[in-house]
Amino acid sequence: MKIAVLKETAAGERRVSATPETVKKFVALGAAVAVESGAGDTASLDDAAFEGAGATIGSRADVLADADIILGVQGPDPASLTGIKSGAWLAAGLNPFGERARVDAYAALGVEALAMEFMPRITRAQSMDILSSQSNLAGYKAVLDAASEYGRVFPMMMTAAGTVSAAKVFVMGVGVAGLQAIATARRLGAQVSATDVRSATKEQIQSLGAKPIFVENVAGIEGEGSGGYATEMSDEYKAAQAELVSSHIAKQDIVITTALIPGRPAPRLISDAQIASMRPGSVIVDLAVESGGNVEGAVAGEIVEKHGVKIVGHRNVTSRLSSDASALFARNLYNFLSAFWDKEAGKPVLDEEIGDAIRLTQGGKVMNARLLS
Ligand code: NAD
Repeated sequence: MKIAVLKETAAGERRVSATPETVKKFVALGAAVAVESGAGDTASLDDAAFEGAGATIGSRADVLADADIILGVQGPDPASLTGIKSGAWLAAGLNPFGERARVDAYAALGVEALAMEFMPRITRAQSMDILSSQSNLAGYKAVLDAASEYGRVFPMMMTAAGTVSAAKVFVMGVGVAGLQAIATARRLGAQVSATDVRSATKEQIQSLGAKPIFVENVAGIEGEGSGGYATEMSDEYKAAQAELVSSHIAKQDIVITTALIPGRPAPRLISDAQIASMRPGSVIVDLAVESGGNVEGAVAGEIVEKHGVKIVGHRNVTSRLSSDASALFARNLYNFLSAFWDKEAGKPVLDEEIGDAIRLTQGGKVMNARLLS
């Protein structure tokens, strides 16, 4: 059983899908691990550290030769997998909706592609969930990015020269990233409020010491779909939410948006008119910018200024914390493969619940229900 760890090639991707810690654990399971030379460079992990953990180091062709399982943070260019063993697994964040042509190409190569972001939200899979581990870091970093773009301070400061008031931070979308954004902004001393369409988040917001801002009077809204994800809201709800947000946002200094709906474009939460109502010097961080954006005018990969308000749209925010992000991502992959490790077979064997959820391709065909429906 050979596990190949690839060096990421996507622009701006600084993470790596294995660490010396996880390599050591895979070796202890009886696997041979081959790491592409330089794979950990941008996450402060050099080849020697991987070698010391029991991996061999080589070129991409070396590590892919006879590989049974290929690990990645993002999906590799299918052209680079030519000649791969038929039926080899590829476990990575494959962005199945955004990179559909790649999924078809993996099928044509005979690869069994496993999309780690399709991991079901069930208790036993929590430790395997890359969306949670990475969103948590993104929520933290979003607040630091906002603080560094903001020309004022976050905490209230009483100084000999006078008092500086605390920044008002509004978090829109209180999933994993949003909760961490609230906690981080609170740690920095800001006054924090937050909103979500899922009413279950109200208590979570309060428990972190922030103020919930919620649409209350629209009948029949719950906002929670399967797996704890949000559903698309009714037009009536959207109108009520826009009105509520308009009056609140004008008084905010920092807004962090994180709202996503799986398989659909991110919901538009902030209009240009609402941006214009904020005071100059305010900062908005749009964590959903790569999924279509929550904020009108946000540009992926850029910081733009509208009406004196900075709109921060960094791509791949988690990659900006590449060491910790890699450590957690690598553990997610290890937790996943080791949970299914069949000692007699000397390889992992997936069960139906998780296998059907994450497997995109098998036997030359695309076969995941979410891609076929
Ligand atoms: P997400 O990244 O899909 O979306 C971010 C947040 O945006 C969500 O809270 C969503 O409700 C919210 N949102 C969507 N549309 C919105 C709108 N129009 N206005 C305001 N907010 C909007 O969410 P997530 O971080 O993946 O978390 C979703 C839920 O799943 C959470 O309750 C989380 O705790 C849970 N979860 C469970 C597991 C598990 O059990 N294994 C793992 C991860 C997350």
